[in-house]
Amino acid sequence: MNVENIKKITVVGAGVMGNGITQVCARNGFKVMMVDVNEEVLKNAYKQIKDGPFGLSRLVEKGKIKSDEMEQIINNIESTTDPREAAKDADLVIEAVSENLELKKKIWNQYDELCPEKTIFASNTSTIMITDQAAATERADRFIGMHWFNPAPVMKLIEVIRGALTSDSTFNFIVEFSKKLGKIPVEASDSPGFFTSRFISEFMIRGVRMFEEGMAGIKEIDTMCKLGFGFPMGPFELMDLTGIDIIMHAGEYVYSITGDPNDKAPITLRKLVTAGYIGKKPGSRGGWYDFYNIK
Ligand code: NAD
Repeated sequence: MNVENIKKITVVGAGVMGNGITQVCARNGFKVMMVDVNEEVLKNAYKQIKDGPFGLSRLVEKGKIKSDEMEQIINNIESTTDPREAAKDADLVIEAVSENLELKKKIWNQYDELCPEKTIFASNTSTIMITDQAAATERADRFIGMHWFNPAPVMKLIEVIRGALTSDSTFNFIVEFSKKLGKIPVEASDSPGFFTSRFISEFMIRGVRMFEEGMAGIKEIDTMCKLGFGFPMGPFELMDLTGIDIIMHAGEYVYSITGDPNDKAPITLRKLVTAGYIGKKPGSRGGWYDFYNIK
C-alpha cells in the first residue's frame, strides 16, 4: 500500500483521540469515515472538530486556514455507527476505542472479517501490546501501533510500534503516512506501555512515591519540575489532566506483564481513584489538589 493511493481512512472510536485524529487526516486531504457506537458521540465529535479548543474554527481565527478550506475539510469527513459501512473499501483503519484489550480484540476480529484483505490496521493504544491485538486477526503482518499524543491536532510525535509480525512494508507505510500528516514518527518495539507511556508513567509514579515517602509535598514536586527543570507541568498536574484512573489502569496492565514493582500503581493513587478523585474530567470529584485541599 502506498500513501498516495489511500482513498478511505476509517477511524474507529470518535472520542478525545478519535476526533482529533480524524481532524488531522481530513485536514491533510484524506477522506475519513468516523465510527462510534451512537449518533450522540458522533455529533459531539463533529462539534469538537469544528469548535473545540483545538478545532478548525480556531485555525480560521488564527488565519492558518480560510473558512472555505474549513468547509472542504469537514466535507472530507463522513460518519456512521455501522461497522459494515465503515469497513467497506477502507485502506487504513485507525482504532481509538477505550483502552481495554478485550474490547480492542473484539473490534479487530470484527473488522478483520469485514475489511478488504489489503486494509492496514493501526491501533492508537497507549499501552496495550500490538502483538496481543494482532493475534485477534489474520493479518498480523498488516497490523501496527500508531500512537498519537493528546491533543492530536497539536502534538507532533507519533510512536510507531512494530508488533512481532509487522511487515517492513506496513512499518514504512505508517512512517510515510505520519510524515504526510506533518508529524514526526519515532520507532518503538512492542512492550507494555512501549517507551513513551512507560517513561511518562514512571515520571508520575516517581512523584507519588516521593510524596508517600514524605520527601516533599505535591505542590513542591510540581513546582520543582516547572521552575527547576523547565517542564510545562509536574507529575500531579499531569495526572489531573490525563486522568488519575488512566494512570492506575496503565500501571496495573504494565505490572501484570513485567512484574516489576516499579511499574505498579502506588497505594495513594489507588486511594484517590477508589474515592472518585480521577482528575479534571466529568464525573470526577477532583484531582490531587482537591483531595489534599492544596491551594
Ligand atoms: P475516549 O473514551 O474519549 O473515546 C473512546 C471512544 O471509543 C468512545 O467514544 C466510545 O464510545 C468508543 N467506542 C467504544 N466501543 C466502540 C465500538 N465498539 N465501536 C466504535 N467506537 C467504540 O478515549 P480516548 O481518550 O480517545 O482514548 C482512545 C484510545 O487512545 C485508547 O486506547 C487510549 O489509550 C489512546 N490514547 C489516549 C490518549 C489520551 O490522552 N486520551 C493519548 C494517546 C492515546
